[in-house]
Amino acid sequence: MKYLAEFSDPVLAKKLVDQIHATVTRPWAMMEVCGGQTHTIVRHGIDQLLPDGVEMIHGPGCPVCVTPLEIIDKALEIASQPGVIFCSFGDMLRVPGSSRDLFRIKSEGGDVRVVYSPLDALKIAKDNPDREVVFFGIGFETTAPPNAMTVYQAKQQDIANFSLLVSHVRVPPAISAIMESPNCRVQAFLAAGHVCSVMGVSEYPPLAAKYRVPIVVTGFEPLDILAGILRTVTQLERGEHVVENAYRRAVTDEGNTAAQAMLSDVFETTDRAWRGIGMIPQSGWRLSERYRAYDAEYRFQVRDIATEESKVCRSGEVLQGHIKPHECEAFGTLCTPRNPLGATMVSSEGACAAYYLYRRLQTPEVVSSVG
Ligand code: SF4
Repeated sequence: MKYLAEFSDPVLAKKLVDQIHATVTRPWAMMEVCGGQTHTIVRHGIDQLLPDGVEMIHGPGCPVCVTPLEIIDKALEIASQPGVIFCSFGDMLRVPGSSRDLFRIKSEGGDVRVVYSPLDALKIAKDNPDREVVFFGIGFETTAPPNAMTVYQAKQQDIANFSLLVSHVRVPPAISAIMESPNCRVQAFLAAGHVCSVMGVSEYPPLAAKYRVPIVVTGFEPLDILAGILRTVTQLERGEHVVENAYRRAVTDEGNTAAQAMLSDVFETTDRAWRGIGMIPQSGWRLSERYRAYDAEYRFQVRDIATEESKVCRSGEVLQGHIKPHECEAFGTLCTPRNPLGATMVSSEGACAAYYLYRRLQTPEVVSSVG
């Protein structure tokens, strides 16, 4: 495919791998923030091409994986109510709540619909004025703008039977939380290019300076990842810690200012719990006071729910990079994509699903020296 195949060119990939090997003299551990990057790394075996001792730690940037159990349980409760049409992207339907998932609600007669855009849900609301239509708005800075736009449109068009169950999260506070974790091993970050295409890069220099970590904005194709790793190890070897943009074909310094304006109008920042990680201050968005009437949590009065996580699942440790997926005892046995115990096995961006899909069934040898 034009403009995509070029970024998988094996000759160029080998050149970048050779440059990385020529640059590295010591062990380094870096985190790719986004689950899409994790899939590229695992699918193409990029981590296995790196010098011994250079470790890729898989970060928490999978929106489905970090959506808190409490919100999933609220979605299940709302979707069970008579008269509700509950709309969601498809990958949320199999995410396990405390005792069931949205597929179960659908199989029991609930009106749960898969849509491809929040605006599809708004149209359903328009077409069904006697029903309550709820859209499940989750994800990072990438999915928040269209959800903000949809609530804005609902208000503009006076569509009162539409609401948003919102659980949006923001990357920069998560980077702070990871760096302040007592077990943190991360020495550098590959930042998520699509997030920066919306938000720009201005939030990252203070983080790079405070935690003395290189942050390289990186795309998603194999050459993007390798170029990001090369820039990162170059900084690490030099003792530098600045923000670099290695994804200039999509990311400008200022980002998408129209999307940012829409976010500021409709949302406000709030503390948000991340599944498996816990509460991260100011790491989320919720609907602002002006749009509170469209907040499904208020409309359906599901604000306090007691939840119960699987006792077996170690996705919290996976999401924080403390273990690799195949180090979980349930990986590939009790837990598979067909019968997931945790969200990291459900989502197409989840690290457990990536390891299962690309057959990383063995625990890698721990390597302590650099060749
Ligand atoms: S393999 Fe399954 S049970 Fe283990 S951490 Fe991943 S999602 Fe959880």
